[in-house]
Amino acid sequence: MKLIQAFPIVAETPAINTRRRKEAEMMLKLMRAPAKYVQGQDALSQVYEETKDLGKSFLFICSRSGHRNCYEKIGKSFSGKDAKILFEIFGGVSSIGEIEKMQGIVKDQKIDCVVGVGGGSAIDTAKATAYYEGLPVVIIPTVAATDAPCTGLSVIYNNDGTFAKYIFYPKNPDAVLVDTDVIAHAPVKFLIAGMGDALGTFFEARACEKAKAPSLENGGITKSAMALCKLCYETLLEDGYKALRACENGVVTPAVESIIEATTYLSGVGADNGGLAVSHSVYNGFTALEECEKTMHGSIVAFGTIAQLILENAPMDELDEVIDFCVSVGLPVTLNEIGVTDMNRVHIAAEKACADGESIHNMIGDVTPAQLYDALIAADVLGKEYLGE
Ligand SMILES: [Zn+2]
Repeated sequence: MKLIQAFPIVAETPAINTRRRKEAEMMLKLMRAPAKYVQGQDALSQVYEETKDLGKSFLFICSRSGHRNCYEKIGKSFSGKDAKILFEIFGGVSSIGEIEKMQGIVKDQKIDCVVGVGGGSAIDTAKATAYYEGLPVVIIPTVAATDAPCTGLSVIYNNDGTFAKYIFYPKNPDAVLVDTDVIAHAPVKFLIAGMGDALGTFFEARACEKAKAPSLENGGITKSAMALCKLCYETLLEDGYKALRACENGVVTPAVESIIEATTYLSGVGADNGGLAVSHSVYNGFTALEECEKTMHGSIVAFGTIAQLILENAPMDELDEVIDFCVSVGLPVTLNEIGVTDMNRVHIAAEKACADGESIHNMIGDVTPAQLYDALIAADVLGKEYLGE
């Protein structure tokens, strides 16, 4: 059965697989990361000290809540120093229009360094503005919902909010500064989603390494990248639940520090240099369903990771470990928990997840929509069983 199955699958998508494998043969190993990563309680009081070598005038592109939570601390850090700071609250979406508006401010105010303060969209707007203006960029994440702060890419939208493009930058941010007080006081759903995004990192990188597929930065995968991805997973297992309980009560403990490092640095640098596979394609697939619109990126990535393990026929111990972790920190293990109630709709998501160019094609032997559909249903069955449904 296996041989019969393998032949037509490879034949169906020769373009992607043969191209990727060929690239892989001559691919140089590559490792990229932010030039500097600073994390800790009250880290924002050190913004000036940690960024003063990057210029004399700074534009802080803030989300509304980022501005509210960080404005005072940043102002204090720069107070009495020989540097100009300017705050701008951006429109909420990393759109082409918003980036052009910020570029205008950079030119008018003769800005030397762009700083993004907030979640994924503020970060992406700052990265793109800095890139187009040829300036350094500093990232101050205010939630741990995704691994965007440390990566060298952005998601850009059209002015009407539809997806426009990815921008892959020649380098990662010049500095990432994480104030764990700020993150620990953000709504806990962000931390949970961040753990979901980080859960995919090790398994996706492992799949890419096996298939000799390229990393997100289109390089060969280093031992260093794999070590970070593995540490990311081990940290989640060790400290995820403890960190969640602490954050629910607004306190910072060593477990919270570990988990913020895992979701921000290990997951970001890990994914950038380790590559993506099924988990993230499953997320892209379910964005086709409006009933999943409110489900956060990392939550769907976590469920997609269980589906990936099913496709890999991972040992039961590993599946148990991952499902157990998800349940312990409130990540979804069933389709219902990510918003799906009509199982017929899963076919649509599976189809979209397997579109050309999706990272799911990094899997050895590739994956068809029908195979992914079966894996999603099988994951759902295991999850329901675990929850006693
Ligand atoms: Zn992600």
